[in-house]
Amino acid sequence: MNTTKSEELYKIALDLMPGGVNSPVRAFGSVGRNPLFIDHAKGSRVYDVDGNSFIDYVCSWGPGILGHAHPEVIEAVIRACFDGLTFGAPTGKENVLAAMIRDIMPSMEMVRMVNSGTEATMSAIRAARGYTGRDKIIKFKGCYHGHSDGLLVQAGSAALTQSVPDSSGVPASFAKQTLVALYNDKDSVRELFENNKDQIAALIVEPVAANMGVVLPEEGFLQFLREITEENGTVLIFDEVITGFRLGIGGAQQWYGVKPDMTTLGKIVGGGMPMAVYGGKREIMKNVAPTGKVYQAGTLSGNPIATAAGIKTLELLQENEDIYTRIEANTKKLAEAFKVRAQKRGVPIQVNQVGSLMSAFFTDQEVRDYSSATSSDTKAYAEYFGYMLENGIYVAPSQFEAMFISAAHSDADIEKTIEVLTK
Ligand SMILES: *Cc1c(COP(=O)(O)O)cnc(C)c1O
Repeated sequence: MNTTKSEELYKIALDLMPGGVNSPVRAFGSVGRNPLFIDHAKGSRVYDVDGNSFIDYVCSWGPGILGHAHPEVIEAVIRACFDGLTFGAPTGKENVLAAMIRDIMPSMEMVRMVNSGTEATMSAIRAARGYTGRDKIIKFKGCYHGHSDGLLVQAGSAALTQSVPDSSGVPASFAKQTLVALYNDKDSVRELFENNKDQIAALIVEPVAANMGVVLPEEGFLQFLREITEENGTVLIFDEVITGFRLGIGGAQQWYGVKPDMTTLGKIVGGGMPMAVYGGKREIMKNVAPTGKVYQAGTLSGNPIATAAGIKTLELLQENEDIYTRIEANTKKLAEAFKVRAQKRGVPIQVNQVGSLMSAFFTDQEVRDYSSATSSDTKAYAEYFGYMLENGIYVAPSQFEAMFISAAHSDADIEKTIEVLTK
C-alpha cells in the first residue's frame, strides 16, 4: 500500500498540531502506524490522499449510520447553506428537530442543542446539579462522556473511596466531586450511595458502554440504576451519544425499556455535522437559562446547517426502519466471522454485540467491565488492524472502540470483510 502523500502530510501536521491531529485516537498511536489522511468518502468507503480505498467500519466514530455523503443529507445541507450559515437567533428548524427527538425518545420532554457530546454531558450534569442542589456525581470506570474536567476522572488507588484526575490539567479538587463505580457491579454503586447520602446530584452512564470497546449491561443492571437513583433523588443520565438512533431508532432506553431522567445525544443526531443535544424531564430542563438559573449558552448552538443535516438523517432513519434490521443482521455476520477467525488462527477472541454495536476483544476472558476489557492483547489487535488495512478494510485504530456498521455497507462489502477476516 502506497502511503507517500499521507506520510508527507503527517510530517507537516506534526509541526502544526499536537501529534498532527485534532483528536488523539486519529494519530494511530495504539496500533503503531502513521495515520492515513483522508481525501473523501462515499457510501461505505473512505479514500485516502494516495488513492487507496477502504471499506470503512469507523464511520466517523458513529455518526455515519447512513454511510458517507448520503445524497439526501448533502442536498439538505447545501440548501440550508444558501439560506445563511448562522444567525444566532431561533429558527423553525430547531422546533422541527426538537419535536422529532421527543417523538422518538419521549423521555426528552425538553431539549437544548449544543455542538458536541462533551458539551452535552457537561451541561446535563450542570442542570442536574442545579436541579438537585447537590455537587457529587457518579460515573463508571471505562465509560467515556467527553473531555470536560469533571468527567476525566478515574478511581484512585483506594478505588471507590477517592477519585483522581485521568488527565493532567484537571484539578484534584474537581475530580473529588466525581465518584467512580464499576460497570455491571451493583455493589460498587450501592456503596457509593451509602457513603454519600443525599449528596449525589447525578449518575451518568453509557447504557451500552462503547468506549472501552462494546460492553453490554447485564440483565437488570440498568433497571437497578433506575431504582437506586430514584430512591436517592439522584438524576439518572443516559449518555446515548453513541447508542441514540443506533441501537434501534429509540436508542438504549427503548431497547432495554428503562426511562432515564435526562439523555445526552450526539454523533448521529447531527448527521455528520457538529450537533449534540441534552434534555429530559421538563421539571429539570426548566432550570436551564433563560427560564432558570443554570447558565448554558452557545453562539453556534442549533446551527441551521447542523440542524438541517440532523433532521434529514432522522427522517431517513424513521422512514426506513428496516435499516436497523439490516445493519444488525450484518453485524451478527461479522461477529460470527470473528469467531471463525479465532478458531482458525487459534487466537482467543471475545465478541460483544448488541444491535449494530460490536467489538471483538483479543482476550480469553468474558468482557463485562473495564478490567476484563483491558485484559485484551493490544499487540494482537494492532496486528489485526494492520492486516485489515492492508486488505482494504478500515477498522478502529484502537482495541477499545466499537466497530460501526452503516446502512451503506452492501452485502458485497460484508462478504469481502468476512473473507478477509476468516482467511
Ligand atoms: C463520543 C462520545 C462523547 C463525546 O462526544 P464529542 O462530540 O466527541 O465531544 C460523549 N459520550 C459518548 C458516549 C461518546 O461516545
